[in-house]
Amino acid sequence: MRTANYLLANRIPKLAQWVLKALPRRQAADVLLGAITRNAWTFSGSGRFSGTREGATVHLAIEANPLATGPCAWHRGVFTRLFTELVSKDARVVETACVADGDAACRFEVSLLDGR
Ligand SMILES: [Zn+2]
Repeated sequence: MRTANYLLANRIPKLAQWVLKALPRRQAADVLLGAITRNAWTFSGSGRFSGTREGATVHLAIEANPLATGPCAWHRGVFTRLFTELVSKDARVVETACVADGDAACRFEVSLLDGR
């Protein structure tokens, strides 16, 4: 939560935040996903990040996540705070696979649900 608050306060321009909040949530999710992908090195280290959206669900994966803690509460917290603040206040994030449990990737599902 504190990491995401730092990002919102210092790393994501206020204008971009305003635009994201004004967009329909699926479009906002695509824009946020692009920004997350461009900055993936900051939270996935040597792991390989990928993200896609299908309808109202965003799939995030960090292959060979070197920061896996099983479950990855830090990653889940950051993704939850960013998506609930910028895309849909009702967004929910669950980790469905984890490197720390022997999976090839940490996988997160973001359900955008209805927020606006
Ligand atoms: Zn994990």
